[in-house]
Amino acid sequence: MTRELLTARLIHKRCLSESAQCFDLEFALEDRRELAFAPGQFVSAVAEDASGKQQMRAYSIASAPSGNRFALCLNRVDDGFFSNRLADMQEGDTLQFQEPLGFFTLHQPLTDSILIATGTGVAPMRGFLQWLFPEGGPDRSGGRQIWLVYGTRHETELYYREEFEAIAARQVNFHYLPTLSRAGEDWHGLRGYVQEHAVRIATEHNPEGAGAEFGIYAYVCGLSPMINAVRERLKELGWNRKQIITERYD
Ligand SMILES: Cc1cc2nc3c(=O)[nH]c(=O)nc-3n(C[C@H](O)[C@H](O)[C@H](O)COP(=O)(O)OP(=O)(O)OC[C@H]3O[C@@H](n4cnc5c(N)ncnc54)[C@H](O)[C@@H]3O)c2cc1C
Repeated sequence: MTRELLTARLIHKRCLSESAQCFDLEFALEDRRELAFAPGQFVSAVAEDASGKQQMRAYSIASAPSGNRFALCLNRVDDGFFSNRLADMQEGDTLQFQEPLGFFTLHQPLTDSILIATGTGVAPMRGFLQWLFPEGGPDRSGGRQIWLVYGTRHETELYYREEFEAIAARQVNFHYLPTLSRAGEDWHGLRGYVQEHAVRIATEHNPEGAGAEFGIYAYVCGLSPMINAVRERLKELGWNRKQIITERYD
């Protein structure tokens, strides 16, 4: 059965990193007043390529539910079809996509959580964080400890940095931990790969489950080598595989 296609118009385009060619695209749904989804889900964008063949690619929603608005975060991929098509969009252009789907969502009841991402894998994490800590709205974190361990190579690739720093400044239970694998000498923050820092947090912090099966969960999003590395390291600490919720981009 063919699923219904929705149409959204690009209302705001922002370059998040010139060097990484990463963009934040904010869309407004044309057909309905509300796009219903759970933070962390993805849409399947649809378009015809030059030969008339229909192409479809998944993109995590990089925002929390907010009426008919939603954001995507993507970077150009060499010779990629859809990433470059999206990156070339101009404000006013339209995008067709299928309804949001996916199981990369926050476990309920909410527990302490380590959010672990590299590159554009930060997209669903932004959705989680906007939902947990809405600006000017009710805090939905229930006082749970939330860490964002975000790895990139260079400082210029820390997408949404100001937004995460602003949340960390107003929420004592949110910890923003950017880590660079190729940091310059002037970088005073964390260095190395996300798995090292995730393991340190998991070692230092081992709460009992209160209502949930486990007291702490990890949410991991990005490319498979990173996800596998995180999974291996947490399993070595004795974590159950159900505690590790993943979204693979490849
Ligand atoms: C559930 C899900 C959510 C996703 N969310 C996002 C998101 O929020 N933001 C985002 O940017 N991407 C996301 N992706 C990846 C996205 O769907 C595409 O795979 C990506 O944009 C490349 O598509 P393309 O058409 O440009 O490249 P293609 O034309 O499909 O591929 C071109 C070449 O690039 C290689 N390639 C494909 N993907 C990558 C990659 N990520 N890095 C390096 N090389 C690659 C291919 O092997 C191929 O050789 C998500 C994927 C999944 C499964």
